[in-house]
Amino acid sequence: MIRIIAPLAALLASWPLWGHPARTKSAPIIRQAVTTQKVLALTFDDGPSLKWTPKILAVLNKAHVKATFFIIGSHATRRPQLVHEEVKDHMNIGSHGAEHLILRRESAAVIRQEVDNNAQILRSLGAPPPTLYRLPGGASDAIALKVLGQMGYTVVGWSIDRRDWRHRSTAEELAAQVEREASPGAIVIFHDGPKGSQATVAAVQMIISALTKQGYRFVTVNQLLALEHQARTHVLFRHTFPGSPPTREHRL
Ligand SMILES: [Zn+2]
Repeated sequence: MIRIIAPLAALLASWPLWGHPARTKSAPIIRQAVTTQKVLALTFDDGPSLKWTPKILAVLNKAHVKATFFIIGSHATRRPQLVHEEVKDHMNIGSHGAEHLILRRESAAVIRQEVDNNAQILRSLGAPPPTLYRLPGGASDAIALKVLGQMGYTVVGWSIDRRDWRHRSTAEELAAQVEREASPGAIVIFHDGPKGSQATVAAVQMIISALTKQGYRFVTVNQLLALEHQARTHVLFRHTFPGSPPTREHRL
């Protein structure tokens, strides 16, 4: 029996290592979680802003929804109380760079400094050390992904982008588009920075209400990643013990 258990224990012990190849390789880009559960992550970029972040937080808190905020360091240092609010409200906080620098075509040293500076800012404001990075402009190249991977980040993309920052859609249009495109594990990108809008605030409220009625739950990006990790663990168990039933339900 021990001959079977010991290698299995070693395999499971090493799981976190091969579950996070980012330590030595390029950062993975997550655009949508692989799941059949009706879960969806709302994300907000470019904040915090005095005008829009408190309104978004009010909508989320009223609905008891946790979301993910990708924060720009230079905005955070001017409005530290809003970062404190997000931490207090148990929102997921990720990095969007200290200065919103487009990382494509930058040197490794410049990228490292931009990323590190924001991590220091976020930590100094009471946020947990960031592990999630959203690329400004969605732009990257091999060097950027390699540096982010070496620094232990997961790069978070999106699967639903209605370009709310262009201010060309009404709240109803934004909400209808997101509801139409919603699918299990989706990641939606919105903006709560200087280009935020009342349409976004109202759309978020409508989306939460409509999709909750359809059976969706709103989760943070960290929770989405945990769900994927559980799914992979499940596959490992199925592979190790062919034919055995699932050990537990995969719920968040
Ligand atoms: Zn941005």
